Amino acid sequence: MVEEAFDRKAVTVDTPSERPDRYYGELVFNRQSMFEYLPKATYDALIDAIEHKKPIDRQLADSVADGMRRWALDNGARHYTHWFAPLTGGTAEKHDAFIVHDGKGGMVEEFSGKLLVQQEPDASSFPNGGIRNTFEARGYSAWDISSPAFILDQTLCIPTIFISYTGESLDYKTPLLRALNAVDKAATAVARYFDPEVKHVVSNLGWEQEYFLVDESLYSARPDLVMTGRTLMGHESPKNQQLEDHYFGSIPSRVQAFMLDLEIRCHRLGIPVKTRHNEVAPNQFELAPIYEETNLANDHNLLLMSVMNEVARRHNFRVLLHEKPFKGVNGSGKHCNWSLGTDRGALLFAPGRTPMDNLQFITFVVNVMAAVHRHNALIKASIMSATNAHRLGANEAPPAIISIFTGSQLAAILDQLEKDDSADLSELKKKSEYSLGLSQIPEIMLDNTDRNRTSPFAFTGNRFEFRAVGSSANCASAMIVINAAVAEQLAFFKEAVDARVAAGAKLTDAILAEVRKLITESKAIHFDGNGYSDEWKEEARRRGLDCETSAPVMFDSYLSESSVKLFEKTGVLSKPELEARNEVKWEIYTKKIQIEARVLGDLALNHIIPVATRYQSMLVDNVIKLRSLFGDRAETMAQCDLDTIESIAQRMSNIKTTVAAMVAERKKANALTDERAKAIAYHDNVVPAMETIRYNIDKLELMVDNEMWPLPKYRELLFIR
Ligand code: ADP
Ligand code: MG
Repeated sequence: MVEEAFDRKAVTVDTPSERPDRYYGELVFNRQSMFEYLPKATYDALIDAIEHKKPIDRQLADSVADGMRRWALDNGARHYTHWFAPLTGGTAEKHDAFIVHDGKGGMVEEFSGKLLVQQEPDASSFPNGGIRNTFEARGYSAWDISSPAFILDQTLCIPTIFISYTGESLDYKTPLLRALNAVDKAATAVARYFDPEVKHVVSNLGWEQEYFLVDESLYSARPDLVMTGRTLMGHESPKNQQLEDHYFGSIPSRVQAFMLDLEIRCHRLGIPVKTRHNEVAPNQFELAPIYEETNLANDHNLLLMSVMNEVARRHNFRVLLHEKPFKGVNGSGKHCNWSLGTDRGALLFAPGRTPMDNLQFITFVVNVMAAVHRHNALIKASIMSATNAHRLGANEAPPAIISIFTGSQLAAILDQLEKDDSADLSELKKKSEYSLGLSQIPEIMLDNTDRNRTSPFAFTGNRFEFRAVGSSANCASAMIVINAAVAEQLAFFKEAVDARVAAGAKLTDAILAEVRKLITESKAIHFDGNGYSDEWKEEARRRGLDCETSAPVMFDSYLSESSVKLFEKTGVLSKPELEARNEVKWEIYTKKIQIEARVLGDLALNHIIPVATRYQSMLVDNVIKLRSLFGDRAETMAQCDLDTIESIAQRMSNIKTTVAAMVAERKKANALTDERAKAIAYHDNVVPAMETIRYNIDKLELMVDNEMWPLPKYRELLFIR
């Protein structure tokens, strides 16, 4: 058993011998399985409902449920659950068996349309920000037919929304679906200027999931990792990422075996993961799928995060999805590549072949810039959390200021368009072609968009890449805000263009005039320089961009006048929903810091101080012995020990006083009843104390005998052998 646990050999646990196309999607109730298990009429009606966003009636639901149950049982499932994303983050499930009493003392398998379509999980065990009054604990989960059911751990999982008894959303999916509808409607209306045949605009998402892997046994020896997902202490390793030798370096075989298993699991679940590579930091990796429609892509990311944890454990690893598990090395993000596309196959942020295609491209890009400009504070709030706060503004991550990078070519075109209307839109598509002059290497199309890694929101050729999203986040939070903000902006745009046309302007002139206006108005959001520099912070302030750095204060943006108007007008969230959700955000923020502070206090007092005292007392012993042996001559010999004894004493006393002060601040904060005030008190008064404690512990780590140090160090945690 012990041997097995420490077996470092690369073992692939579930490598099927077949080719990926043979098992891809086999655990998903996709169209192929639907076709196989549903009566033809049911299949047609369901596809029609999915494609045209129609409600399904009870009879259809019963028929679908029957086929779904048979498919699930045939594929090894014994239970079913509604699967949803509550505001705590992560996903929630409540498993029920497919069986019911048959009335004759036995059991029959049953799964009705009613159970498929709707359930009533007890909402009181999920955060609701006070929406639920104490008499009504019920919440509803309701089937989202646009995301297919799948089998995970022998359980049929049915993606659902989760709402309160009174109809307010208690999850991420509900407002996401509303935002996707809003952007579909608004973008379709504008896209029709260019192609009257457009019926729908779809929002696409391609996430890039970064994560760390840590050896399971080392992980278990770090109570801070186990309890908070990050190291609350630990001095930097002498080597970490200075040599940048990890990035695109070869992947250790043990990790490769994990990745292969994970990819197979993903493919069986229909998650189209495609790329994997090392990231900048040691032990840091990335996994990215082919982009999909936003709602499905987001479900797939949530599913991936839970599958990752499980697969990692089978390989004696732990996955760290925390945004900043280690101080001094890069944190993890989840870049969200986002675009809009029509049902006619056009990507709206991609330049095209004709000047009209390019006017469409410029129109959509400029409207995104205007939306991001107007709501930059809200967009920042949408990705903020207690955990992502460690990453934003630190030196490797996007800064805590939202700006858009366009690249020099697009910047030049915007400039020219703003100044006069003679900008040649037929030139846009021409990418600079670059031949390496080597016959064995094909010609490379150099992307016109130079890469700027310091930008939180970058235009990357045919999409925007929102880089500020945290690795542990539910991408829906960002996607709700971006899609809603762009929907609102496109509706403004349409109104303004239509007014010009009604006043006699030619359509293209009207569009160009409005585009020009937006370029001028939203200039402040456009920044192609170094987002990490101090000058940018000054400049951003001058430009009126939001520069708030305190997470709990950032959440206020959700309740600003412009945000409430945005959410209400697009039908994405009501004011009571926004208020309730903010209560939850503040509460979660407080709880995260509270747990960290408790763990740190315990570790400091019960792990670190006792060990430092023991080591100090060894040194004291040594000094006494030197003195008894060498008398007066001992003083020079003992000096070194005496210095260390004193330093240790200073650090320990510092730690003890700060822990006491931190506990006092926590007590004061806990006495506050207002969630916002409490979160701010934790941010302002508890977090700085934690930093002081850590600083002193990290200094002790350098002094105390390595053999005595009670926790695995960074150099051990960060290098997988
Ligand atoms: P990077 O150089 O940033 O790693 P990749 O080509 O690996 O870029 O793509 C990252 C992600 O962006 C992938 O999930 C990919 O499918 C996605 N992506 C590519 N094009 C689009 C698009 N038009 N809309 C949304 N996502 C896209
Ligand atoms: Mg990327």
